[in-house]
Order: sequence, then C-alpha cells, then structure tokens
Amino acid sequence: MNITKKKQLTLGWSISRYDKFINCKRRYFYDYYSKFDLEIPLDKIQRLKNLTSKALEIGNIVHMIIKTILKRYQITNQPINMDKLFQYTFNVIKKNCTTKMFFETHYYHEKIILTDIYTKVKICLNNFLNSKRFKWIINNKVIMSKNHQWIIDPEGYGDLIISNYKIFCKVDFLFPLDKKLCIIDWKTGKKIKTKHYKQLIVYLLWAHISFKQNVHNIVSIVSYLYPQYDEQIVTITKDYIGQLMKVIISETQQMYKYLIDIETNIPKPKENFQLTTNRFHCKYCNYKEICF
Ligand code: SF4
Repeated sequence: MNITKKKQLTLGWSISRYDKFINCKRRYFYDYYSKFDLEIPLDKIQRLKNLTSKALEIGNIVHMIIKTILKRYQITNQPINMDKLFQYTFNVIKKNCTTKMFFETHYYHEKIILTDIYTKVKICLNNFLNSKRFKWIINNKVIMSKNHQWIIDPEGYGDLIISNYKIFCKVDFLFPLDKKLCIIDWKTGKKIKTKHYKQLIVYLLWAHISFKQNVHNIVSIVSYLYPQYDEQIVTITKDYIGQLMKVIISETQQMYKYLIDIETNIPKPKENFQLTTNRFHCKYCNYKEICF
C-alpha cells in the first residue's frame, strides 16, 4: 500500500462528504461544486450553504467550549470556576446566534431564543464535566505528562493519501496514554451507532497511518452528551483496515462517476446530480428554496 501525505487537487473522501452524496446528489453538487452552476448565482448558493441550524450551532458551541476546557487543562490542573465557565458559554452563544443566519429563521421566520440554546448546551457540558470519562482524562493527565502531544479539535482536516485515494478526517481529541493512543469524539445529537462506528474506524485508520501506531494500541470512543452521558468504544484488528480501505475506495469511485475529470475534480453538468426522492432529506435541506 502506497502511503503519502502530499496534498492533491483530487476529490477527497470523508464520512460527511459520502453521506451527503448518498442522501441527495443535488445537495452534494451545491455543497461541493456550486461554482459550476450555470443557472443560480454563486452568492445565492453560498448564502444558503452558510445557513446554520439550532442543532448545528449547539454542536459547534459544545465542541468549542470543550476545546477551551481541554486547552486549559494542558496548562493548569486547577479546578474550573463553573460560574465563569457558564458565563463565558452564554457569551459565546450570544455572539454566535446573533451573527449567523439560522435555517429555522430563514425558512420558518422562527426567532432564535438564546436561553433555549443555552439550556441544551449547558446539559451537554454538565454531562461532559460530570462523566467518568472526563474524570478519567483529568486524572490520567497527571501521569500522562505528554499533554503537549494532545490534538484538540484541530483547524481544518487531517488528510492522507493511500494508494492514490485522498481521505479527510478530523478528530475532536487525540492523546497518548502509556503506549496507546486514545481518540474521543463528542456528539450532541442522536445516537446513530452504525454511522458513528464507521467514523471511529476511520479515525483509527488515520491515527494508525499518521502516527505509525499499531491498531491494537489505538482506542476510539464516541461520547454522547445528550440527553445523558453514554459511550461507544471501538478497537479493531489489522484485517479490518484492509476492509475499510476497500469500502473507502468503492465509495470514492462512486463519487468519481459524477466527474468529467478526476485529476482536477471537475463535475459533470448539474442535471446529472439527481434530486432525491426521499422528501425527508428535503425537510432539513438548506437549498430547498432553489430546488423546487
Ligand atoms: S431540497 Fe431536497 S432535492 Fe433539493 S437539494 Fe435539498 S435534499 Fe436535494
């Protein structure tokens, strides 16, 4: 298997990209190839693409605050001042929710109530801070003494090229513990065990290759933060890495079929990207205004 970390122009596989591709080809086109649209102005598509939603924003804010908490623990072991933490959280919510356009407002004229967002964010953060996992991280931190090696919600994506296929993946939190690597992903939405299992295995693959670590020594964990704390833990064997690569290659090739040129990632005309027949996806789609 030929492995490099060079950047290429070609389409890169990621869990979220393939998910969008499977759910609706047209939405996938607007998300990744809007500049090739010959009918609808690019700025209009971009405006819709940038709509956030209550669920998305709750997830973003919880991730942002957890990142701040962990970065603080890289510097000091002092207990957190909870009043200050939640005041800071409320300020972040206020800033985010007053500067972004929400899907619910754009399509349903719904007023975004800051305290509604805050209530759910606070439950997620309390579940995180009171979880055995958080206590385990903090207690283990003392013996880890390698907290400079923590990777906490890095900007952008980690990319890999394996046998000429590009893969994107972004971990929430990765840290060494004894001779192992641990990866944790926080979730504020519903448990979708099959999808999350696949995501965890992709993280394992990424860590296995990026850090030349034996897969037996990598543990991947999904931490569910709402409505109460729960976890899914995954470890795998080396055989499974080969199977996963076959799946990623097959899914990438499905997406390649919608391109005129694979090297430069130029799509076929928009008409080739069919609208989904599953109206459930349309209900929550940012682009419905330009679709029907
Ligand atoms: S509104 Fe429906 S058909 Fe149109 S892009 Fe969105 S999901 Fe696809």
